[in-house]
Amino acid sequence: MLVMTEKVSDVTSAEIKELAKRVGADCVGIAPMSRWEGAPKQNDPRYIFPGAKSMVVLGFRIPRGLLRGIEEGTRFIDYPGMGYASINQVHGPMVLWKLNAYLEEHGYEAFPLQNANGGDAVNPVTGKFRAGLSRHVAEGRPLPDVLVHFRVAAYLAGLGEFGWSKMFLTPEFGPRVRFAMLFTDAEFDVYDPIYEGHICDRCKLCVRNCAGHAISMNESVKVTLAGHEVEWGKLDELACEEGIHGGAGRELSPFDGEYPRQYGYGRAVEGGCGCIRACMVHLEQRNKLTKTFRNPFRKPGWKQWTVDHAKPYEIPPEIAEEYIGRMEDKEGRVETDEEAFSPLND
Ligand code: SF4
Ligand code: SF4
Repeated sequence: MLVMTEKVSDVTSAEIKELAKRVGADCVGIAPMSRWEGAPKQNDPRYIFPGAKSMVVLGFRIPRGLLRGIEEGTRFIDYPGMGYASINQVHGPMVLWKLNAYLEEHGYEAFPLQNANGGDAVNPVTGKFRAGLSRHVAEGRPLPDVLVHFRVAAYLAGLGEFGWSKMFLTPEFGPRVRFAMLFTDAEFDVYDPIYEGHICDRCKLCVRNCAGHAISMNESVKVTLAGHEVEWGKLDELACEEGIHGGAGRELSPFDGEYPRQYGYGRAVEGGCGCIRACMVHLEQRNKLTKTFRNPFRKPGWKQWTVDHAKPYEIPPEIAEEYIGRMEDKEGRVETDEEAFSPLND
């Protein structure tokens, strides 16, 4: 049931949703700021914009095809680059700018929050307070920067639920979605209710397929958000940090050494093997998602490939033959060689 309000702005929630989708958001939820009641001070956006009345949370799909190269083990840059960093740093902010301008044109202040971290007083990975980083500017205020939890915001705006993996699942895309948000002093006519459906069926495939062994099989964490009890599997964030680089033995990364960055980001080369890919495949097979595909992502008989970095480096014979006289060392000087020129070079 939608939540109606008495005091409304001359901008409606339907207008905001229509505009957000027209300029690039894939799902939109709108909530009153009061849903943050009970949040820890360091995570409460009402300290960033005390006059804000509403929060608009935008969901952006991660194109399924951007996980394809990792699934096949043949191309890795696209998910960390276009599927992660550029959604956060390019696409999301573009949509936020448009919404921000629209609200400003109607006389409302809007505070856009892109999905990026920097000077947070609480470490977004460990959840620990960063002693010595910043000082508070006045008694009673949190220390800068306040860290707003994007998945909590998505929950409060009714966009879906937490899976056992702690990934946020939406009924449209499952775990294949990223978020940005905006706070405004506009008060809308209609707010979205908390999502009451069930997408996660506790299959625990996220646990079994996690490269970092980061998600607990049985231990859970319970929190109360806007009066609702929410539970997910206990996540070892540092193990996940190791996992996203390909696991402790880098068995899910074919690269020796650090992987190059695109949009400043070169992690996540294992393409969320448990919490995104295994979960998505499962939810698609169970027809749990409203956005469907004509062909399944994973073919029958697919097996997760692994790389043994303890083995000596070897160039496959067909590559050695194909590139006779056109081989260079990855650390070596790049030299032009007219005879070795290939029209297929970029
Ligand atoms: S893989 Fe299964 S248990 Fe894990 S989040 Fe997805 S649906 Fe839930
Ligand atoms: S990102 Fe990778 S390592 Fe982290 S929880 Fe997901 S599957 Fe596990």
